[in-house]
Amino acid sequence: MSRLVMKFGGTSVADIDRIRIVARHVKREVDAGHQVAVVLSAMAGSTNALVELCLTAGALHDVREYDAVVASGEQVTIGLLAIVLQGMGIDARSWLGWQIPIRTDAAHGAARIQDIDATELVERLGRGQVAVIAGFQGLAPDNRIATLGRGGSDTSAVAVAAALGAERCDIYTDVDGVYTTDPRIVSAARRLDRIAFEEMLEMASLGAKVLQVRSVELAMVHGVRTFVRSSFDDPEAPQTGADNQPVGTLICDEDEIVEKQLVTGIAYSKDEAKITLRAVEDRPGIAASIFSPLAAAAVNVDMIVQNISEDGRTTDVTFTVPTSDYDRAMALIEKLKPEVTFESVNGSNDVAKVSVIGIGMRSHAGVAASAFEALASRGINILLITTSEIKISILIEAAFTELAVRTLHSIYDLDKT
Ligand code: ADP
Ligand code: ASP
Ligand code: MG
Repeated sequence: MSRLVMKFGGTSVADIDRIRIVARHVKREVDAGHQVAVVLSAMAGSTNALVELCLTAGALHDVREYDAVVASGEQVTIGLLAIVLQGMGIDARSWLGWQIPIRTDAAHGAARIQDIDATELVERLGRGQVAVIAGFQGLAPDNRIATLGRGGSDTSAVAVAAALGAERCDIYTDVDGVYTTDPRIVSAARRLDRIAFEEMLEMASLGAKVLQVRSVELAMVHGVRTFVRSSFDDPEAPQTGADNQPVGTLICDEDEIVEKQLVTGIAYSKDEAKITLRAVEDRPGIAASIFSPLAAAAVNVDMIVQNISEDGRTTDVTFTVPTSDYDRAMALIEKLKPEVTFESVNGSNDVAKVSVIGIGMRSHAGVAASAFEALASRGINILLITTSEIKISILIEAAFTELAVRTLHSIYDLDKT
């Protein structure tokens, strides 16, 4: 008998009516003879509300208490789903992270799962009981609740699937798969039948929030077949494609993709801020003196550009950080003087990063050039560029984000016909 993990996100469990629909999806798989573990998020909006409450209670709160508060949303949904399933005659029980336990590291607020003891789960699934597991949470080494960072239920689901040796991890959400770009901002976006782990990893890290980055990493490392699909389908007769399989997107190994595209998708992130240091003294070790204090303070530096020194004495250094780290980063830069001499520092929160992603880029030249030309033709100014083997990221003014995403989407044959 095969094991299946089914994960439902916030909009899929937003109220009791939606939870009843989730229960019907679960029943379908139970009736088909699967052993089922369900992983749930909190109701849509409830984690945001809990985060707000913590900020109101104290701006510089103890992150362990933040975890105790924000993990509570999932406790509600798992209990409710177990009640509804029981009402349908299905043996089901709820599980909090500590009850399994799902062990994490000590990084409260953004913890990583380290180990899942699946012994009792396996035994109960074997007896036909459905396990309804709280996503987003685990037990830290200090014996306290830890949360996995926003969107962390995806990671819980993939980790549970790996621990159970599940045949598949189905991620049910409010779209019917992974699209060439966010379907909410580009109506011409196309659903992908398959996407390689590596590409999905780039899409997620560069802003496509359909899957948490860490969930894709785990799926890749443990070879978990992860399938993104819609919970808004008819539960008894889900939509099927030409091959009679459910409609959705399979995240899989590159070799399982027959039709390889040059570009697979466009991602964007408005969570960017840019900082420029002008006329920094140009000497060996200068980059280390700037970036080591930022690293020590856990400021996440992303793009970095150091200009060639014109006079051989000074240079300009520009880099980006997440908006949430911006104020801290600016404060740290101010403190660099007198060890590092520079003329001025300025920054901006009004920037966004758009990225073009595709494993096809490895073997094709010219992808970047066409992106630059297309943006120029729309009058969009490029502030910074970084590239890797399978992606190009471009920093622009935030006001142009939607236009840039739509423009890039249209030039690589991604628009649906
Ligand atoms: P859930 O609550 O189910 O976890 P999320 O809101 O976290 O759902 O993720 C689903 C959302 O991700 C979609 O509603 C969509 O707007 C957004 N999204 C961004 N980029 C993409 C993409 N490339 N493909 C599909 N959805 C995307
Ligand atoms: N409820 C958590 C959040 O909103 C986890 C999740 O939905 O994946 O971030
Ligand atoms: Mg999510």
